Amino acid sequence: MAIEIVTIPCLQDNFCFLIHNTESQQTALIDASEAAPIQAVLDAKGWTLTDVLLTHHHWDHIDGLPALRDRDTPRVIGAGVDAHRLPPLDLEVAEGDHFETCGIPTQVIDVSGHTIGHIAFYMPQIKAAFTADSLMALGCGRLTEGTPDMMWPSLMKLRALPDDTAIYSAHEYSASNAAFAITLEPKNAALISRIDADADSRAKNKPTVPNPLSLEKATNPFLRADDPAFRAAVDMETHTPLEVFAAIRARKDVF
Ligand code: ZN
Ligand code: FE
Repeated sequence: MAIEIVTIPCLQDNFCFLIHNTESQQTALIDASEAAPIQAVLDAKGWTLTDVLLTHHHWDHIDGLPALRDRDTPRVIGAGVDAHRLPPLDLEVAEGDHFETCGIPTQVIDVSGHTIGHIAFYMPQIKAAFTADSLMALGCGRLTEGTPDMMWPSLMKLRALPDDTAIYSAHEYSASNAAFAITLEPKNAALISRIDADADSRAKNKPTVPNPLSLEKATNPFLRADDPAFRAAVDMETHTPLEVFAAIRARKDVF
């Protein structure tokens, strides 16, 4: 299967993603931040939207949908539990559901925490997971609705995916996330070299997503709350992983 994925910067610092199957000519969009930059790519490529996959209800992930629906007539897919606050859905999904988009088998993972009802889309055949504001590059979403004891298990589900899964998250936050992460683990060599590589990408105006899950596991503080080296670095060796996660999430909120 020949698949092309295009990362589209939207709004101030959002990313949307187009997935295109060059054989079937189907095209799926992950989140609809704003229509214009997405339409520009569709026009330039000569693609028509067949599916739109929504991760959660926040405006910066859905507000572009009405205008895109004027252009094409995609099937819209989102969490059934959030149907009341998402645009009208053609397919309501939940944790563990499987469907196909662009001919790609896709698994739904409930990753509540940032919002309750946030979902991620995992596509093992193309080694990709679209995680939006749950697991993010060097970070995780702020807990606007959920609690640490929701978010930590959500992140653990994502961490259990294969190491070579590409993590596509929805914001260019790597600089501020890096500034925080390095205060926790100033001696983490993988983190130091990632920060250099990310700075280089941003200097060249290149997105710092996606990243392999293996890199997130080695450098993202929010995946490391049960790692002995991390726990020692933050001086919380006697606390549970959930307590460590909750503490660093709270610290990031005021960083
Ligand atoms: Zn959000
Ligand atoms: Fe967002």
